[in-house]
Amino acid sequence: MAADALLRDIFGFDAFRPGQEEIVDAVVQGQNVLAIMPTGGGKSLCFQLPALVRDGVTVVISPLIALMRDQVRALREAGVCAGALTSGNTDEETAEVWKSIEDGRLKLLYIAPERLASGAAMGMLRKIGVGLIAVDEAHCVSQWGHDFRPDYLRIGELRRALDVPLAAFTATADAETREEIVRRLFDGEAPSTFLHGFDRPNIHLAFAAKDGPRQQILEFAAARKGQSGIVYCGTRAKTENLAKALREVGHLALHYHGGMDADERRDTEIRFQREDGLIVVATVAFGMGIDKPDIRWVAHADLPKSIEAYYQEIGRAGRDGAPAETLTLFGPEDIRLRRSQIDEGLAPPEMRAADHARLNSLLGLAEALRCRRAELLRYFGETDVTCQRCDLCDTPADVFDGTESVRKALSAVLRTGEWFGTGHLIDVLLGNETDRMRQKGHDALPTFGVGREYDKRQWQAIFRQMMGHDLLRPDPERHGALRMTDDALPILRGEASIELRRDSIKKAARRPAVKTLVNEEDAPLLSALKAKRRGLAEAAKVPAYIIFNDKTLIEMAENRPTSLDDMARISGVGAKKLERYGDDFLQVITGEAEVVHPTRRKLAGREAGSIYDRLLEVQADLSRGPDGIDKPLSCSASLLAKIASTKPSDEAAMGRLLGDKRAERFGGAFLDVLREAT
Ligand code: ADP
Ligand code: ZN
Repeated sequence: MAADALLRDIFGFDAFRPGQEEIVDAVVQGQNVLAIMPTGGGKSLCFQLPALVRDGVTVVISPLIALMRDQVRALREAGVCAGALTSGNTDEETAEVWKSIEDGRLKLLYIAPERLASGAAMGMLRKIGVGLIAVDEAHCVSQWGHDFRPDYLRIGELRRALDVPLAAFTATADAETREEIVRRLFDGEAPSTFLHGFDRPNIHLAFAAKDGPRQQILEFAAARKGQSGIVYCGTRAKTENLAKALREVGHLALHYHGGMDADERRDTEIRFQREDGLIVVATVAFGMGIDKPDIRWVAHADLPKSIEAYYQEIGRAGRDGAPAETLTLFGPEDIRLRRSQIDEGLAPPEMRAADHARLNSLLGLAEALRCRRAELLRYFGETDVTCQRCDLCDTPADVFDGTESVRKALSAVLRTGEWFGTGHLIDVLLGNETDRMRQKGHDALPTFGVGREYDKRQWQAIFRQMMGHDLLRPDPERHGALRMTDDALPILRGEASIELRRDSIKKAARRPAVKTLVNEEDAPLLSALKAKRRGLAEAAKVPAYIIFNDKTLIEMAENRPTSLDDMARISGVGAKKLERYGDDFLQVITGEAEVVHPTRRKLAGREAGSIYDRLLEVQADLSRGPDGIDKPLSCSASLLAKIASTKPSDEAAMGRLLGDKRAERFGGAFLDVLREAT
């Protein structure tokens, strides 16, 4: 079958996502391929589909057992013969995989990299007719990366031994990693390389300055009740407190951090993966093994470590392509914490400088004045950005020329010897006669009281932005006192100006508007469809999205297909799933069972389906002959289906299918139907 027919019939997608088709073509043709795609871009399809087109078994090497098992399950649901050999297998599972290899049915064999270490596995792979090697998370081959897996180094050897094409996939794009992949997996011979954009257009980006952060998170979650989400926190204690607070207001919430024992962590991961509408409040330890496509939101209760970490963490949301939302909170304390972590780290000075610069990029994003998406993607080298899905595109920032205020603040910093933090500096600007002020004689400074045009809160926002723009940095050797950086000099000297936001601290609306995935009138149907999905998922002991993902259910709720043919047009409904679940979901939509002959059902969504319907009509008209007086005659459903799909083109061919009697009564009319259809 051609690639686009498989795309529709097996995977249930109408069209390729951007970039997929070129990669699929190259892999189908047997080229060596390196594809760099962002998380959620749809990498798996780029080797799964070619695996079905090409002869032989496609061996898939992937680092995470849980993910492999998930993919195998999803493929089987779609009617593809796939199996995994991992340490997590039961004996029966392994036996079944072997049997399907012997029968020559197996199309995809997932194997854990550790297996490659044994000579037996190599020998086995040599014998079973491997036609293609696919390597997921190919950056695991990089010895300098965080995810290095020594067993990945054996993949190059495997490729040489089997002498088949290799397709490598990763979301890590930096040039060094790419070069290392080419060296280790392709023996340095450049593969066809596809570099795909970093934008995740379905993810809404938003930042907010902390202002009662616990309440801010609770409100964000309240507006998304019942949707799966992750809250990232800076400390373990916070994950526990916040999870508790969320439970108290009626959410389903669990905490997760590196201090929990392995079983407890595993349980939480499994529940999150399986259940719909669970919130996990976690440290960054949560995420590596998570491959849940229908995470609807990610919130950061504390500022992430770097812009890369931010991108990776928010990127866990909305992998199914349906709308997803994010909120990242930050405040001066976060900036202090992250700076001191860098300063107190053991890295050599030039590394620390680079880490400060990376943190600056994230702070620049946090304090951005215009489109966040443009700012984020600029960091990844992309300049051609369309957005409309970020807080600053929704509501443009209220920007003012902050040069004068910044100079006053800098002057307060310098005249007090760079020995103080925000509290005292603001007192100086406001002219507050505190004890300390008198003690230090700061009430005599020319800067004393020059900032009365703003209140304390507004000055806090200005100082935070100055730290965000790296004009001021806390000095760990002075207990976090703020010191001016060289970047501030041009402003101080009057050579440069700076724009600031009037106040990024917006008072949250008292009653958050509830965010739903669909509009009001479709919402009840969507919940009914989700309930059906939950039932089916529990019965089959698989995660809900394996049945259908959110995006598919949303489309069902909005388009309300009333027949299996309509249903087949919904994205995510492949032939196998249509057959297995189509009726169940149709019943939810129509509120009743649709009576369809099983043979007809198999044709749903194809051209042959509508031809079949026409044949049936014509047959009904002629069942008692042209004058309605003859002996009743009809064709079996399977015979009609055969005619509809093989489309005999002349009387002789039609006659061979129908036999004399039926050919005499229906042959001519059926040929007319077929002619009309082409
Ligand atoms: P990743 O690139 O992170 O490995 P996946 O392969 O898991 O991404 O795909 C992410 C999601 O996108 C999955 O839910 C998958 O079903 C969906 N998807 C992939 N290709 C398409 C497509 N052409 N049309 C619609 N959805 C797709
Ligand atoms: Zn934007």
